[in-house]
Amino acid sequence: MSRALLELKGVTRRFVAGEKDFIALNDINLTINAGELIAITGASGSGKSTLMNVLGCLDHAASGSYKVDGRETGTLTEDELAELRRDHFGFIFQRYHLLPHLAAIQNVEMPAIYAGTGKSMRVERAQKLLERLGLSGHLEHRPSQLSGGQQQRVSIARALMNGGEIILADEPTGALDSVSGKEVMNILLELNSAGHTVILVTHDEKVAAHAERIIEMRDGEIIADRVNTDRPISNEKTTERLPSKPTQGNRLMANIGLFQEAFVMAWVALISHRMRTLLTMLGIIIGITSVVSIVAIGEGAKRYVLKDIEAIGSNTIEVFPGSDFGDTKSMDIQTLALSDVTALSSQYYIDSATPNIGRNLLVRYRNIDVSATVSGVSPSYFQVRGTRMGSGVGFNKDDARRQAQVVVIDYNTRIRLFGPKADPLGQVILVGNLPCTVIGVTENKKNIFDTSKNLNIWMPYETASGRLLGQSYLDSITVRVKDGQPSKVVEDNVNKLLQKRHGTKDFFTYNLDSVMQTVQKTSQSLALLLSLIAVISLAVGGIGVMNIMLVSVTERTREIGIRMAVGARQSDIRQQFLVEAVMVCLIGGVIGIGLSFVIGYVFSLLVKEWQMVFSVGSIVTAFICSTLIGIVFGFVPARNAAQLDPIEALARD
Ligand code: ADP
Ligand code: MG
Repeated sequence: MSRALLELKGVTRRFVAGEKDFIALNDINLTINAGELIAITGASGSGKSTLMNVLGCLDHAASGSYKVDGRETGTLTEDELAELRRDHFGFIFQRYHLLPHLAAIQNVEMPAIYAGTGKSMRVERAQKLLERLGLSGHLEHRPSQLSGGQQQRVSIARALMNGGEIILADEPTGALDSVSGKEVMNILLELNSAGHTVILVTHDEKVAAHAERIIEMRDGEIIADRVNTDRPISNEKTTERLPSKPTQGNRLMANIGLFQEAFVMAWVALISHRMRTLLTMLGIIIGITSVVSIVAIGEGAKRYVLKDIEAIGSNTIEVFPGSDFGDTKSMDIQTLALSDVTALSSQYYIDSATPNIGRNLLVRYRNIDVSATVSGVSPSYFQVRGTRMGSGVGFNKDDARRQAQVVVIDYNTRIRLFGPKADPLGQVILVGNLPCTVIGVTENKKNIFDTSKNLNIWMPYETASGRLLGQSYLDSITVRVKDGQPSKVVEDNVNKLLQKRHGTKDFFTYNLDSVMQTVQKTSQSLALLLSLIAVISLAVGGIGVMNIMLVSVTERTREIGIRMAVGARQSDIRQQFLVEAVMVCLIGGVIGIGLSFVIGYVFSLLVKEWQMVFSVGSIVTAFICSTLIGIVFGFVPARNAAQLDPIEALARD
């Protein structure tokens, strides 16, 4: 009937202490059978805890062989050892080692989380165990709300969660008063009766007296191993059993479940340290807020500028006499002619073209004199320039043919001559010496390139040339490129055509498209600069996250030790801390995005002309960045946490 469950052969454990090694376990040979109740006694420092840790696969033997149920443990990986702990052992510590921020039932559930047991099954079993141990009224209590005896019972329930085939209790009654100690001891005896193998370390001879077998240690060696002949209670194995060991789901489901649990655990950890979490996030929040807002401001400003450029006609090409602006000879060049306009208009790549002659002249209405730029243009001028009428109409072909004395004035002129209230339409003004009727007023469209107080008046080219200026050559030609035609190519074609017509290049062209390209290029390099600042600020935020996560790992070393003792693998611990880091960064990112929307709203209240533009791209990028920062800067802390030695971690205060 007796099956050798745990077998130690020549097990030695050394600790490095200064110059020479300290031998905590010296050549231990021990066989423990299934179903035994064993007490280990001995003076403090004799190696009892070290032996328990080796038995529970929390610690490695330096030499010798240790078999669990016939399986040699020396060759197992850390994760395999963790699985062994998880599935076969239940630890009960003198100081209970419950996680303070979790309720009793959550503490009990923990081993099953790492075993991949489903939520409902877990809760049910944890509840049953706690009820069975007389804690039905305390499921939701935190450890700090429980007495020592109650806490120890919670930790027993935790040890039983995954079955607890072998219970390792290191001085389980050491911190308890005698009544609670007796209770706990009775539970252990009952468990043993129910078939659990129980190994307990104790100073107390009365406690040891309950055991079937007593092992005595001194200076790392077993000095006595005897069967206890005078046990106070009979050792009939009862048939009453605890809820049977939960079945485990398949590997994949278990991993998915673990991942979900990692989120829940991370969330619990974060909200139980709210202030610190918030401070950790601050760097990320500031980083993401500034990135998203700056990008939105940049995009808004760019669109505003480009819209203005488009309004004055990015797809227009101007033709001037001479070799460039400021060319002194251009005054004498009189070769730009109306026939050039006609020739250009008939090209397939040109939407429309207008001649332009102009002069600064005195303009008078009643007793008001102003100086204005008077231009003679074709009826298509307003279309070419994309200018709309605020009121009235532009002139038509008929007006042009008749050399009609009609003018269109701009908003500035209207204000100067007529004031804001009077209706200028139909009024006659004196342009130079020519009386003209106002038939249209252009829209008052402010744009950043036209903030001047220039006064502009337009009349048909024929009127200006024939009746007012007596000039037959043109000052310039404005061409509107047909939509969809590349303006660079069109500009080349215009150059070729005019050069052929003139026989020489006595003109030059000017295209606003190049301005647009400059703006685009400027905004691109601006974006690059901003991205650089963004990367730096996010990196600073990330370093903040890493810093606090490192502190957190140090601070929660004991928690990590406990998790490892109940069966968390290194990968589980790593995953949990990574999830925490990513969660901090993601929440920070979301808050940052939210804040930048608030900034956008405030901005829209303060600035009327243009708006911040939030693109989906920048928000998605912000999300991705937050996640990446979490992964990159959470990596080292998570790795540190996973590589902790469970023994040392548990020993930490
Ligand atoms: P006890 O019988 O009181 O439980 P332990 O097994 O805890 O004794 O310790 C046995 C000896 O090993 C002690 O002298 C202790 O100082 C030493 N020891 C235990 N753990 C370590 C460690 N991590 N590093 C160095 N020495 C240790
Ligand atoms: Mg000890």
